Amino acid sequence: MNFLEERILREGRVLPGNVLKVDGFLNHQIDVALMDQMGAAFYRRFAGVGVTKVLTIEASGIAIACSAARCFGVPVVFAKKSKSSNVGADVYSAEVASFTHGNVNQVIVSKRFLSPGDRVLIVDDFLANGCALNGLITIAEAAGATVAGIGIAVEKGFQEGGALIRGRGYDVASLAIVDAMDASTGAITFRQQG
Ligand code: 5GP
Repeated sequence: MNFLEERILREGRVLPGNVLKVDGFLNHQIDVALMDQMGAAFYRRFAGVGVTKVLTIEASGIAIACSAARCFGVPVVFAKKSKSSNVGADVYSAEVASFTHGNVNQVIVSKRFLSPGDRVLIVDDFLANGCALNGLITIAEAAGATVAGIGIAVEKGFQEGGALIRGRGYDVASLAIVDAMDASTGAITFRQQG
């Protein structure tokens, strides 16, 4: 079992509706040393792919992205949730349905911060149905950038996002993959990864 799986078992709570609550170290209070361990793990995994930017989505992806970006020595760009659907010509945008909030956000990245030469490592806290990743991929590719890899902290392997995104040929590395979880018992089962 790796450091993140251990921490999830110790402090994670399974809520009804397939939500894993990890607000004690990731989604509300942040354990910065744990972020650095995750950043280093993504660096080991993607060190050879020529990353020039780390791309994430606000809010919870930002902390992990910063730790990863420090290892790569590149900037973080985070997609912002825009209140207006009238977003203008100076941004790349995509619609992202929120798994946890049940609404749809327009997310934007300024055209100043992504370019055709960029090789982007996309990082996020959770992968569920893949909506957040789809939005980030759309934005990166609209800029003409290449998605060089995708690093996820917690993938819920019983939801469809991971299979869909890998099926499109993207290299997705998830530090913990939850294959099953039960809100009534609190049990969490991780996928064995090589
Ligand atoms: P997706 O877009 O893949 O359906 O869901 C991923 C996004 O929803 C992540 O950015 C994350 O913020 C949120 N999310 C999805 N499932 C969970 C979960 O079980 N727990 C938490 N804390 N966030 C989740």
